[in-house]
Amino acid sequence: MIRPAPAIEAIPVTTPFIGPEQLMRETGQVELVRLGANESAFGPSRKAIEAMNAALDRLSWYGDPESLDLRDALAAKHNCRPERIVVGAGIDDLMGLAVRAYLAPGEAALSTLGTYPTFAYHVVGYGGRQIHVSYRNDGRVDCDGLAIAARSESPSIVYLANPDNPSGTFIARDEIARFYESLPRESLLLLDEAYADFVGDEELLPPIFEDRLIRLRTFSKAYGLAGARIGYALLTERNAQTFQKIRLQYGVNRNAQIGALAALMDDDFRRYVVEETARAREDYYKLARSLGCRCIESRTNFVCIELESAARAVDVMDELLTRGVWIRKPGAPPLDAYVRVSAGTPDMRAAFSAAFEAALAAVSVVP
Ligand SMILES: *Cc1c(COP(=O)(O)O)cnc(C)c1O
Repeated sequence: MIRPAPAIEAIPVTTPFIGPEQLMRETGQVELVRLGANESAFGPSRKAIEAMNAALDRLSWYGDPESLDLRDALAAKHNCRPERIVVGAGIDDLMGLAVRAYLAPGEAALSTLGTYPTFAYHVVGYGGRQIHVSYRNDGRVDCDGLAIAARSESPSIVYLANPDNPSGTFIARDEIARFYESLPRESLLLLDEAYADFVGDEELLPPIFEDRLIRLRTFSKAYGLAGARIGYALLTERNAQTFQKIRLQYGVNRNAQIGALAALMDDDFRRYVVEETARAREDYYKLARSLGCRCIESRTNFVCIELESAARAVDVMDELLTRGVWIRKPGAPPLDAYVRVSAGTPDMRAAFSAAFEAALAAVSVVP
């Protein structure tokens, strides 16, 4: 009998992300206002599209397995050597490398309960053991709680997203630096900075290259290249060599390398996206206030809106779907009473606003 390895067989069958395409197939909808995955509603830079278009004829070639042109440009941006950058097929890919490399089966990985789910997915997939600390009641990551848990459990990896998903909250430079210093020396901090481009460089953890820190960045959010699947890790040469042993040599799409390089060169466009995103957040805050709902202040391209209870949040999300608007919600308490809506274009925001108001009215009706 053919059986998967025991660690794999023990994993329950799950679909961590049910995509909007599947929801459309299930509900028979032909169009959805897509505000559920924090993709960029503002698209990629025209320059990135043109560069990728111009390179399509050469798609019969593999990309450069070293992604060196892109790494050189990223090295200039981050003021480091290209040896300190590894390019992968998005953060999700790089996170898998980090877990595979630094978490032996049975070892502990510490994270916030209900944070970005791909980390837990890799921990389970590679046979690690999960330890969690909950979000604080105000929706913020509990740095003190994580530090205490880290000191008592000495996990191999501590995962933290900053700015965080799904809360949208941000830990300022001093606090994240203090947190990093408070961790046991044998724990790797896997710092997921998917939303770093929405925050000033001077607000983030300063550039630190130590073996116990790996930072992850992506072109999926502010750069609008989620479908291209490309991101990178900032890490020491030693950690980069470790990634080098296990990464797929041709795992990065050739056109993604080209698009990412062109996107990186078009900082005007990134700034435009960041400004539009800030407007979108303000619109959502205003909408929520007008309907008597609280929000968590966000530094990302999405906002969490509170709906009193988890059951009500699920109902509102379902009502929105029937009205052609797709959003998601955090799964674990204390954030499970919130829904999370991504920044959209002004048209998408207007569609959300109308549908949200109608959904709230629908769930308030006593049957
Ligand atoms: C969107 C997101 C990712 C996924 O990034 P990819 O580069 O598309 O794999 C990773 N981490 C967080 C916190 C995210 O919100």
